Amino acid sequence: MVARITTFAFEGIEAKPVDVQVHMAGGNQPAFMIVGLPDKAVGESRERVRAAFSAIGLALPPKRITVNLAPADLPKEGSHYDLAIALGIMAVMGLIPPDVLDGHAALGELSLDGQLGPTLGVLPAAIRTLELDMRLICPEVCGPEAAWAGEGNLAAPSLLSLINHFTGRTPLSCSPPGAISEVEHYSDLRDVKGQDGAKRVLEIAAAGGHNLLFCGPPGSGKSMLAKRLPGLLPPLSARELLEVSQIQSVSGLLERGKLSHSRPFRAPHHSASMAALVGGGIRARPGEVSLAHHGVLFLDELPEFTSQVLDSLRQPLEDGEVTISRANRHVKYPARFQLIAAMNPCRCGGGGEAGPCRKGPKCAQQYQARLSGPFIDRIDLFFDTPAVTAKDLNLPPAREGSADVAERVTHARAVQIQRYETARSPTSRGLNVDASVDLLEQHATPDEAGKAMLTDAANKLSLSARGYHRVLKVARTIADLAGSEQVRRLHIAEALSYRRRPADPSSADRVGRLAF
Ligand SMILES: [Zn+2]
Repeated sequence: MVARITTFAFEGIEAKPVDVQVHMAGGNQPAFMIVGLPDKAVGESRERVRAAFSAIGLALPPKRITVNLAPADLPKEGSHYDLAIALGIMAVMGLIPPDVLDGHAALGELSLDGQLGPTLGVLPAAIRTLELDMRLICPEVCGPEAAWAGEGNLAAPSLLSLINHFTGRTPLSCSPPGAISEVEHYSDLRDVKGQDGAKRVLEIAAAGGHNLLFCGPPGSGKSMLAKRLPGLLPPLSARELLEVSQIQSVSGLLERGKLSHSRPFRAPHHSASMAALVGGGIRARPGEVSLAHHGVLFLDELPEFTSQVLDSLRQPLEDGEVTISRANRHVKYPARFQLIAAMNPCRCGGGGEAGPCRKGPKCAQQYQARLSGPFIDRIDLFFDTPAVTAKDLNLPPAREGSADVAERVTHARAVQIQRYETARSPTSRGLNVDASVDLLEQHATPDEAGKAMLTDAANKLSLSARGYHRVLKVARTIADLAGSEQVRRLHIAEALSYRRRPADPSSADRVGRLAF
């Protein structure tokens, strides 16, 4: 006879149904085979199932057991196939009634004593199970996570508890969804003394979702400012929360099914590998860019990242998703993040407490040349943070804190989301930064004086088409913050002041100035 149950293979955060078919036949040579493109971890499932059975006093019958994982051309990776395989074998052995598995999907790794341990990807699997009109069986620790998708999932602590459930001895109860944690408390912008210009540019970045680079001497408060960006952003919407939580689920970051409305803030070290940053590795796990989806990716000491790593960010910065190439397929993860970066003007950190750089303009030029043109082109806002002076430190605390700025940001974002509502693509955030050229022409055409100024600047700064549109996007955000329907000359002028200056060797001697 053949027993069947559904489980899932993960491609990115997509859970693809896999039909687990277990066949048992007599024969003089007992065997236990798993076929259907299993990887090593799936193959090892045999040993875990065998041990788990013997731990609860059962033995595999001396027959030929064949487990087929269909479709056979879809690669199967990971240890979460254990539970479905074990349940299928229990059905063909008659330990549970053969038809009880109908309409069930199962996901979970078995330990050698028959317990079910935590497993990755329960949330996307539970959502998919619901779409298939099925019921998910998962480990007890993952019950609160599965319950977010809907009621009726079965969370079991062990294999034995499932036998007792399906034979009607001790029915399992459904677990309630995990907690929603409070929105995280971020450090306040009020703690940053002085730096009014930097705070203004941070507000613009927050309002329009723009990418931002701070350049300034050590100790000028670049990281301090960057870390305050998430505190200026509105909490995740319901749709965003679902996407972010699914990525966290396949990465094993959802502790006991606890979700959070806080926007992700990821700050990988500059020694991070490409796989760590954009995803990859043995099971093509999501990288930092995907863990920062709908949130902020902060890269401190930007030129210290390898150029290969920085260039790999270009695709997600443009498309809002990342494609990881594997030997036989491609895996996609969402990666719509906001980039905020910081750097010293030169490698030796001149301009800070140690005084100006002693190596001359070459030092800054060489350091800044480590960032490629196409990468720099994707940054909308450049800001030179001046060194903090004793006078700044003696200033009284700023009157405005993060909450005041966040209020303006939330308002400006609401205006944008409403504006782009009808033309919104599924991956767009509905912010100015995502607006297409058509939409920009429709909504961000400046007044005559603004147009003249932009045309003039485009020639002088030799702006690329992308650069031109980026200025318009930033100007649109500045106008939104000012509550102006029309983009005016004033808004264009401010947006242009945040453009990178064209390479000019004479400007590099002024430490603290960006000149690519
Ligand atoms: Zn230097």
